[in-house]
Amino acid sequence: MPHPVYLDYAATTPLRAEAREAMLDVLSQRWGNPSSGHCWGREARAALEDARARLAAVVGAAPAEIVFTRGGTEADNLAVLGVAARDAERPVAVAAVEHKAVLAAAKAAGGSGRLVTIPVDRDGVVDVDALEQILRDRRPALVSVMWANNEVGAVQPVERIAALCAEAGVPFHSDAVQALGKLPVRVDRVPADLLAFSAHKLGGPRGAGALFVRRGTRLEPMLHGGGQERGLRPGTEDVAAATAFAVAAERAEAEREETMARVAALRDRLEAGLCERVAGLVVNAAGAPRLPTISNVSVPGADPEMLLPALDMEGVAASSGSACNSGAVSASHVLTAMGLPVELAGPSVRFSLGRDSTAEDVERALEVFPRVVERVRM
Ligand code: PLP
Repeated sequence: MPHPVYLDYAATTPLRAEAREAMLDVLSQRWGNPSSGHCWGREARAALEDARARLAAVVGAAPAEIVFTRGGTEADNLAVLGVAARDAERPVAVAAVEHKAVLAAAKAAGGSGRLVTIPVDRDGVVDVDALEQILRDRRPALVSVMWANNEVGAVQPVERIAALCAEAGVPFHSDAVQALGKLPVRVDRVPADLLAFSAHKLGGPRGAGALFVRRGTRLEPMLHGGGQERGLRPGTEDVAAATAFAVAAERAEAEREETMARVAALRDRLEAGLCERVAGLVVNAAGAPRLPTISNVSVPGADPEMLLPALDMEGVAASSGSACNSGAVSASHVLTAMGLPVELAGPSVRFSLGRDSTAEDVERALEVFPRVVERVRM
């Protein structure tokens, strides 16, 4: 059996060698508690502040605007719940295609009665007219629209949305977990108030994330404790994880243009090949500006429960947005929000490529996929 092919980089990525080295260096040499007053503490503090400054520089922020968290989910929760808590009366408006880290947090902020869903078009792009109306009529406490979608790759007009929110005086959060390292994410170009990042999507470790909090943005902490991270994320900081995150983000940004051009060409080859080989295949969000890394396809007539396991058995690892609840596969909320009928929203596959993807990976997927579809078509 040939080596399995990994086409699930949107789920997670392997740790970059430089990030691993930086992590080991901190764990073995700078393992003090950054809050300690002695020299071990001072060394750890210096490493943490260095990581903060480096990550801030990647996105054009001031170091004081970066709050380290234990992952993207935590950063999203801190943004949504933290801002929503300051004004419990007003609604929270989030795009229908948000990651569950935002959607579920928005629901938790005050039940579904407080949640206003911003619709998207057939390509998964937010309806800006609808958002303008929500800003006018509902005066939300917060608007949250992701920078790029994790299932279909649609890139949102965040610059425009951020400007509209700023004009309306409404705080704007964007989940930039899938965008960082793949698109230029600069806080000096997009006037967002909050941005969530995650290290493991760009070659950093799992369980490390950050929230950009623009100066002057007011939010409540979700955890209570020792006052670390300006009181917004208390708990002894994971200096090794923060350092590895900063190193990985720097590397991803330095290579971004070159890597993304190469990956986009591979993705296009994969997509064109799939369309040629599989009758009726639909590329989702094809009309939207998209991340160069993601191709989400629907295969009408294929058994949604069999598609991915059959692909996995053939040595190709991909994913889908469908959730498997008690044995039954339910269609992805993203594809459903885009208006796809269940026949298309159910049997969908997300292929996602990354910096280690090769032409051989793509050829192997093209060889295997039509065979798998044949087998699982009902
Ligand atoms: N937001 C988006 C768009 C994601 O793709 C993910 C990861 O799946 C997250 C948030 C959650 O990040 P983490 O896995 O670091 O909690």
